[in-house]
Amino acid sequence: MPTHSLHLAREVVKVCGTNDPFIVADYLGIEVCYENLPSHIGGFFTRIFDSAYIVVNSEKPRAWQRAIAAHELGHALLHTQDHAFLATLNFATHSKVERQANQFAAALLIGDEVPAENESIYEFAQRMGVPVEFVQSLQKDFFMGGNI
Ligand SMILES: [Zn+2]
Repeated sequence: MPTHSLHLAREVVKVCGTNDPFIVADYLGIEVCYENLPSHIGGFFTRIFDSAYIVVNSEKPRAWQRAIAAHELGHALLHTQDHAFLATLNFATHSKVERQANQFAAALLIGDEVPAENESIYEFAQRMGVPVEFVQSLQKDFFMGGNI
């Protein structure tokens, strides 16, 4: 059974006509800012009054910033809590909301791509330019042949 976050990512790609998280954020009226954050913080999402912001660590590589932006977009769309979500060194998590944000990000950035035969999930993640945790969040659906 596809989860809400996966459906939502597909809708976003359809409506926005792109899977680029920076363009999607712009489309949704979410401002993306770059700040020199401490290195263990990848970025966060916050709402200030009626405005929504994704803050990305300006010191991270571009592929990482793209992953952060996609993950934080997941929070922006899925979670209504009015507080900051931190994305730290990696995306490993046992928290339900973090897993949902990872799933959204994975579905947004990976789309319908699947690992090639004999391709490990690490190689696949590298080819897709996403953290391996994103692939792992989808892994069950991939290998169960689920329709995400
Ligand atoms: Zn998060």
